[in-house]
Amino acid sequence: MFYLQGAGVGSGIAVGPAYVIQQSVFGAAVQQVESDQLDTEVARLERALQNTSQHLEQTRLEVPDNAPKEIAAFLDAHIMMVNDPTLREETVKFIRESHYSAESALAAHRGELVEVFVNMEDEYLRSKKADVDQVIQQIHQQLLKDYSDPDVSEKSLDGCILVAHDLTPADTVQFMRMKMNAFVTNLGSPISHVAILAGSLQIPAVVGLHGAVSRIAHGTVIAVDARSGSVIVDPDEKTLERLNARREKYERHQNRLLALKDLEPVTLDGKKTTLLANVELPEDVDHALNCGAMGVGLYRTEYLFMNRMHQPSEEEQFQAYVHVVKALKRVTIRTLDLGADKQVDGGRKQGKVAINPALGLRAVRLCLRAVGTFRSQLRAIYRASAFGEVQCMIPMLSNLEELRQVLTIIEEVKQELSSENIVYDPEVKVGGMIEVPAAAITADQFAQALDFLSVGTNDLIQYTLAIDRVDDEVNYLYDPLHCSILRLVKNVLDAGANYDKPVSLCGEMASDGRYTRLLLGMGLRIFSMDPGAIPEVKQIIRQSDVACTVPFVETIMASSDSATRTGQLARLNEHGQPVQLQL
Ligand code: PEP
Ligand code: MG
Repeated sequence: MFYLQGAGVGSGIAVGPAYVIQQSVFGAAVQQVESDQLDTEVARLERALQNTSQHLEQTRLEVPDNAPKEIAAFLDAHIMMVNDPTLREETVKFIRESHYSAESALAAHRGELVEVFVNMEDEYLRSKKADVDQVIQQIHQQLLKDYSDPDVSEKSLDGCILVAHDLTPADTVQFMRMKMNAFVTNLGSPISHVAILAGSLQIPAVVGLHGAVSRIAHGTVIAVDARSGSVIVDPDEKTLERLNARREKYERHQNRLLALKDLEPVTLDGKKTTLLANVELPEDVDHALNCGAMGVGLYRTEYLFMNRMHQPSEEEQFQAYVHVVKALKRVTIRTLDLGADKQVDGGRKQGKVAINPALGLRAVRLCLRAVGTFRSQLRAIYRASAFGEVQCMIPMLSNLEELRQVLTIIEEVKQELSSENIVYDPEVKVGGMIEVPAAAITADQFAQALDFLSVGTNDLIQYTLAIDRVDDEVNYLYDPLHCSILRLVKNVLDAGANYDKPVSLCGEMASDGRYTRLLLGMGLRIFSMDPGAIPEVKQIIRQSDVACTVPFVETIMASSDSATRTGQLARLNEHGQPVQLQL
């Protein structure tokens, strides 16, 4: 038995066999399967090859007569490659001999092929490497479709704890469908999207645990504790007993908190607050309701777009939004925030890669580039507004010009729906996420131009403190108490108050009870968070007196010394209230 330490995310304690995967040349995880699954993997590969071939044949038939001849020739070449028996045989060899999953076998064979092309003398032939990649990607996309098939997904990881070098949000959703119990990664930080997903999936996870993949053997029993961030490898009987006792205690505590579900989130001095849920996946709806969410303050819609061959249609998006709106009544739907680490395919697609993806074509920037996709999402959002109180929220705004473009597109979409006699709420409020320092500094301008604001502290901290939110090497610099962050958040709250526009906070800072009183004292009244955090935050709010927080907040805001700020925050949380109520 030995202990490993990383950063705990999500919630709870899990014990189970480790399912270790490595990183492959293709960027996907190398996944090994048990002997009795080899036939299934070969069958999956064969099905994917057949589907890719059919898809290409169909596209070939649809090429218009007047299209340039190169298009048909290009498709013919791809059809030939997919049907080439060596592609099948070599990939099957990796499955049968190395026990690789179909994806990993495909990636491994791609590696061999690419090497051959890269070493070719002839420049033209060398350039054909791109075709290999395109064909392999198409087969890979077909394989990914299996994860939405419950027959295939249900068996694989049930009860296991996934141990990986790194996971993308797309991977995480995929492995969740395979019913993993918990996960541990070498890389990652507590505010990365993967960590946020662990919260929403209600599973424990430990990220940033360097050496996890090399030190944990496949199949060994491990225990993962989200609260302490520790992983116990091969725990003995006594440790398992202790962990079980802790797990029961944790569950009792959670149940006690859940008893607060129907109580009002009002402070001791009568200040009313609104506690909303952040949701990503359809299954979050029940969790949000059970935790007493008063609505949804952030619906991260990009998860609908991940791990699939084609974008969801307007109708599919509409159905997904209506499901959430009918259940939770009051829902702020954020328009697509794809890009950076939230790639539809987990970032595996080869080709042009931005040097600083977080500063690149992401969120609203991407939507203004892919206007067709944006319009179809807006139509779905507005159609869903006929079923409840829907708000539309735009991520990553950095200047008013892009906001004006968005508002123009929204007006056009509304007119289009009216002309088609489609019912929608013409008064849908349009708000913006304030998560880029430029927007936080000019929050007064955004407050005038929008119906509401929502502070995204995850990105605001990333961009203000220049720390990549997925990079655990710089995670120690993540500091919601940094003067710059507090001033920016206060600036946004003041702008909202001055222009009479509601301001919420939907970054992870809202889920962390250590900051609840501070934020109350700064003027925040609308918190949106991981549903699992709502009961605890509600309990703190019900035990807080806003008037008493003010002197602490003033000292924290005025102090240039980080130790003073941390100390004052601890005092505010421990003693800053007139009475301590019991549950
Ligand atoms: C944020 O940036 O704080 C936020 C809530 O959005 P996301 O985590 O999805 O980027
Ligand atoms: Mg963000």
